[in-house]
Amino acid sequence: MTFEEKRVELVKKLRGERRITSIEVEKAFLETPREMFVPESLKNYAYLDTPLEIGDGQTISAPHMVAIMCEGLDIKKGQKILEIGAGSGYHVAVISKLVGKEGRVYSIERLSSLAKKAKKNLENVGITNVTIEIGDGSQGLQKHAPYDRIYVTCAAPKIPPPLIHQLKDKGKLMVPVGKMICNLELVEKTGEQIIKKDLGGCAFVPLIGKYGF
Ligand code: SAH
Repeated sequence: MTFEEKRVELVKKLRGERRITSIEVEKAFLETPREMFVPESLKNYAYLDTPLEIGDGQTISAPHMVAIMCEGLDIKKGQKILEIGAGSGYHVAVISKLVGKEGRVYSIERLSSLAKKAKKNLENVGITNVTIEIGDGSQGLQKHAPYDRIYVTCAAPKIPPPLIHQLKDKGKLMVPVGKMICNLELVEKTGEQIIKKDLGGCAFVPLIGKYGF
């Protein structure tokens, strides 16, 4: 099977499991070659629904987790989005398809080696609406705030307050909260009101930093 055929099969599986429910997320997955975001030696495993090692003790998230987060964030074309934890750049590549050419995505990564790789991976697949920054994303990224959506791809001890502050009115924030085994939390901000929803259990590498572990 070619990578493309494997990608189609994976999307079919995620559809069947109701991890992908919208046509937009389905399209974004079909347009993003996961094999371009994993190390050469793991390319043949790129379409298994599992996290994979990407170096520096970090992992590319499992496709079903990326799907759950994309669907839950309800992303619209043209939005401005912040990702904490660029890793391989795969998740942000999918998000870049959801916001389209008019949208803009910023991703902050604390490890410069991974930030460099993510930049290169995104370049290799021709993505131009994503900017990778190096720094402690537990404090958000004030210089481009406020954001329509913010999501964290590592587990935080609790929701970092700067991320709530950097959300627009009616903005949404998704954060895995807990140590290793955690809960995926969705925060919706309307004026001063903050509504939290629990989207269930998940496993992520830890968020390291001022508001992290
Ligand atoms: N979205 C990534 C998943 C990477 S794993 C992908 O699709 O491949 C989580 C990443 O979060 C790791 O690369 C880790 O280095 C990074 N990370 C941990 N704490 C961080 C922090 N405070 N700020 C920015 N990145 C952080």
